[in-house]
Amino acid sequence: MTRRIVLVGYPLEHSMSPLIHNTALRAMGLHREYIYEPLTLRREELAGLVRDMSEGRIYGANVTMPYKTEILRHVHPADEHTALVRSVNTLYCTATGVVGTSTDGAGFRTALIENDVNPQGMNVLILGAGGAARAVVAVLLSMGVEQIVIHNRTMQHALELREMAHSISDIPVEISTTHEAGLHLSSLDMIVNCTPQGMTGNMKNMTPIHISRDDAHLVVVDLVYNPIRTVLLREAIIAGCKVVDGTGMLVHQAAESLRIWLQREDIPVESMRAALLRELDASGVCTGS
Ligand code: NAP
Repeated sequence: MTRRIVLVGYPLEHSMSPLIHNTALRAMGLHREYIYEPLTLRREELAGLVRDMSEGRIYGANVTMPYKTEILRHVHPADEHTALVRSVNTLYCTATGVVGTSTDGAGFRTALIENDVNPQGMNVLILGAGGAARAVVAVLLSMGVEQIVIHNRTMQHALELREMAHSISDIPVEISTTHEAGLHLSSLDMIVNCTPQGMTGNMKNMTPIHISRDDAHLVVVDLVYNPIRTVLLREAIIAGCKVVDGTGMLVHQAAESLRIWLQREDIPVESMRAALLRELDASGVCTGS
């Protein structure tokens, strides 16, 4: 019988996860044993998902916006780090029940490394304070950043993220309360967009911050991967910044989830990346046009 791995979230129409996971399963010759499919669920159906997993009807799950924290009401965090970060994107079954962990941090770290970005000693601005921002901040702290500044629409979420950072490290974490235009980019080394601004759909023409020619010293990272070249990244490229788009993180967090479910290290990352880039190119979103 084919084992079902599901992607749970809302909305899911633009997700590339089914494509990249099924590409990997096919490349590994496992496409008859496993299938990865989107499953749109309402909040009140999350408990049923966990029941389906514990009773063997669903083998594994990815969880995406807006349930990455909510799901922790229904599953145990896999370890102390997950409990602290409180953001889960991968569910799997253990002898003691269904547990949740996040592979976003591992994906982000690998994407930085493969783009030759070493955040050690950097002053980093985080735009957003949701699940992805929490995973990103935890990784940046572990990689030796010097300072973090958080800018978010909802102050309470920024405060909660700072609290999480303080429980991991004593590196200074500031909260920016200025309007976007008031942020001083000259004192920063890196910006990471952890909001959906710039994403295909009604946010496509948005950017969380504007980059000008004075900002060429910055490394600009966008977690949004569809389009690959968001408004933010296009401005950063014109300004002469080093940029990292969201495709590397997407592929590497997916590969890490597959390592957990399949208990195998040999995940065909380059096949997954090629399928993703082909699809984004074919759908005309490569350049954000
Ligand atoms: P989330 O937990 O829902 O958090 C969303 C964050 O974005 C919050 O800080 C939210 O602010 C802010 N936000 C939402 N809409 C906004 C708007 N219109 N204007 C300004 N800020 C807004 O989502 P997430 O899981 O952190 O994901 C955030 C983004 O990262 C998404 O675009 C997602 O696709 C992307 N992502 C990419 C990867 C990858 O592999 N490349 C992995 C994970 C996530 P409030 O606190 O005010 O609500």
